Amino acid sequence: MTSTKMKLLLFDIDGTLLTTGGAGEHGFGQAFQDAFGIADDLSTIDFAGATDSAIAGMLFEKHCLEPTPARHEHFRTTYLPHLGKNLARFQGRVMPGVRDWLPDLAARPGAVLGLLTGNFSTAAQLKLTHYGLFDYFPFGAFADDSPHRDALGPIALGRARRIHGVEAFADPARDVLIIGDTPRDIACARACGARMLAVATGKHNRASLSAHGPDFLADDLTCAEAAAAFRDFWEA
Ligand SMILES: [Mg+2]
Repeated sequence: MTSTKMKLLLFDIDGTLLTTGGAGEHGFGQAFQDAFGIADDLSTIDFAGATDSAIAGMLFEKHCLEPTPARHEHFRTTYLPHLGKNLARFQGRVMPGVRDWLPDLAARPGAVLGLLTGNFSTAAQLKLTHYGLFDYFPFGAFADDSPHRDALGPIALGRARRIHGVEAFADPARDVLIIGDTPRDIACARACGARMLAVATGKHNRASLSAHGPDFLADDLTCAEAAAAFRDFWEA
């Protein structure tokens, strides 16, 4: 008897599944102003691949605010309503190929889809719900779990095993694929031993991503390289 092989696909959100057109970044500035009375144009913040909690930490450090748990929580709860309103105001979009691949992958026997994102969990839900993608992702790892992206891979894998069995995804190099758009996603995949498909749909171009040595690299999810990556991963 052969059992169905199980494959875990962990998706980043911003720059990979979608762009909010600046709704998230703008919300950070609004929240910082509202919560702490400090205007910051965020021009010194490197958003790409950073977790929401790490971005908050960068702002606290820049403005000499002690990063207490209460301050982090005040920032998070101020940010989320701004994000919710901004999603309707800013012109974002789902990245090319995402609406084709998600139903295809989700329908495969043994496929498990999850999130591996620097968003707060509620921010992830708001963004994905706005663009009609939330139902593909029953679980994930988020900025609420750790400000360090490299810590999120094992957390997501642990949650997947709690749902699908401790024996599942035994060999991350064969059974787990992380899909993301920044060098931080590539480092995160390396940190948990997973394979990595980098897509040049965010702020990093092919050359920038290639320098960090992802297992697979594609301009976007419509191209043949993406199809080949999913096929290689699936057949391994
Ligand atoms: Mg991203």
